[in-house]
Amino acid sequence: MTDEPDVIVVGAGPVGLLLAAELRLAGAVPLVLERLAVRSPQRKARGVGPLAAEALARRGLGERLTADLAERSAEKARDHGSAKGHFSAIHKIDPALQDEPDRQGVWIWQPELEELLAEFATGLGVEVRREHTVVGVAQDAGAVTLTVATPHGERRLRAAYVVGCDGGRSTVRRLTGFDFPGTPPMMTARRAEAEILEGADRLPPPGRQHGGILHHGHGMLATFDFGDTPEDREAPLTAEELENSVRRVTGVDVRVALTGETLRFTDHARQATTYRRGRVLLAGDAAHVHSPMGGQGLNLGLMDAVNLGWKLAAEIRGHAPPGLLDSYTAERHPVGARVLHNTRAQSALLAPGPHTDALRDVFADLMDIPEVNRHLGRMLSGLADAYDFPYPSTHPLTGRHCPDLAFKAGARADRLSRYTVYGRSVLLAPDVRAAEPWRARVDLVEVESIAHDGLGAVLVRPDGAVAWASGGQPDAEGLESALRTWFSR
Ligand SMILES: Cc1cc2nc3c(=O)[nH]c(=O)nc-3n(C[C@H](O)[C@H](O)[C@H](O)COP(=O)(O)OP(=O)(O)OC[C@H]3O[C@@H](n4cnc5c(N)ncnc54)[C@H](O)[C@@H]3O)c2cc1C
Repeated sequence: MTDEPDVIVVGAGPVGLLLAAELRLAGAVPLVLERLAVRSPQRKARGVGPLAAEALARRGLGERLTADLAERSAEKARDHGSAKGHFSAIHKIDPALQDEPDRQGVWIWQPELEELLAEFATGLGVEVRREHTVVGVAQDAGAVTLTVATPHGERRLRAAYVVGCDGGRSTVRRLTGFDFPGTPPMMTARRAEAEILEGADRLPPPGRQHGGILHHGHGMLATFDFGDTPEDREAPLTAEELENSVRRVTGVDVRVALTGETLRFTDHARQATTYRRGRVLLAGDAAHVHSPMGGQGLNLGLMDAVNLGWKLAAEIRGHAPPGLLDSYTAERHPVGARVLHNTRAQSALLAPGPHTDALRDVFADLMDIPEVNRHLGRMLSGLADAYDFPYPSTHPLTGRHCPDLAFKAGARADRLSRYTVYGRSVLLAPDVRAAEPWRARVDLVEVESIAHDGLGAVLVRPDGAVAWASGGQPDAEGLESALRTWFSR
């Protein structure tokens, strides 16, 4: 591996690893820098939303993701007390009621997902350098220079582009001067594997309390505390801090001993105003932070990665049409803003007090109305989100992410996901001749029929977004404007 990669990806979390893999697939040379010596065992996310699950399946990772799905789903249902999805911990979102019930997320703990993504990226030749902490960022007209603290002293590394995938407290974001406006926390959550040494018999049953929410059982103790914000959010959670929080939330004094993993997080919601400043870009939690309510962070961040990877690689390889790289912020920022918006609503609905209790009852009743249930399902999954493209949309699928289409090519039954493994764009159409000049960028597949209502032909970008679709009638002009917008000839 050269010391002058095309792109330095800062952070080997899920988003950084997937981005590096996507860049490699699209022909760029990334280098990943990670401050931790070994992968974090912290069990933050336990699931990936449907769009990101499909994005990973497009790259051939579907079987690994779904291997123990039934077992994992049962485990999650046991822990949450329901197999249904939730809005603000009201577990009523019914998978069977949704518009596209076959498009579901998968359950996988974050450390396992990171292991899978690390294998995927390194299998493609991506180098990950651990114990490399970025402490300085400087960009000039031609490149970005990073100052990196390593066990062997400070090093300088240069690359044409840098992407900060270094999480919610991103150093890259801060040092590059990105604005990061938003709302401060309403609550702080604390979760620990813990033994309750004294006071367990006085604790109320798990659930809503006068100062927030209490969970306990199976060797775990957790609070959602609307009564304070810790001064030092980086300091490890202590037994005393947890005891104080239990007192604020329930009014009960307990004595606890921490026995394993601890976690603290808040529901502050902030988003970078742009995801690009010159040669420095942001993706994942570095670009947006919000409450984990509804498990949307990975869906959002992994979809940032697949949106950015092929665009940045095209810019580096010199075949990006004008404006391609800036379409990253234009497409992804509104999606992030929508997620922040719904997590704020979920926080408001979680706040303690009799007025919110009443509001939750009303909201829970509304969720029994199938259209409300579907509306919330769409909101949390992002399945109905459509990018706004700079040309007329010719079909309702345009701008949305494509499901794994089944189609017939000659006598053969086939699926789109067989063609997306290498990260290229794919055109499925009865007649692909109009796209011949783009053959270097787009795989052309002649099909007889596509098993999707009212779909005769479709152009799918490398990130799975539908660039153009047609109901069957010829639309050479529409197809050409989509091809010109996204790919050079
Ligand atoms: C309790 C909890 C539950 C959650 N549940 C879900 C869920 O069910 N579903 C879901 O989709 N999301 C969930 N999330 C959100 C999800 O965990 C995050 O969105 C996800 O971790 C974001 O990934 P990332 O790669 O952007 O950032 P991170 O996972 O934070 O990775 C950033 C990486 O950058 C490294 N780094 C930081 N600074 C530097 C530096 N200066 N130099 C080099 N490396 C650096 C870090 O060590 C880290 O490895 C949850 C979050 C929490 C807290």
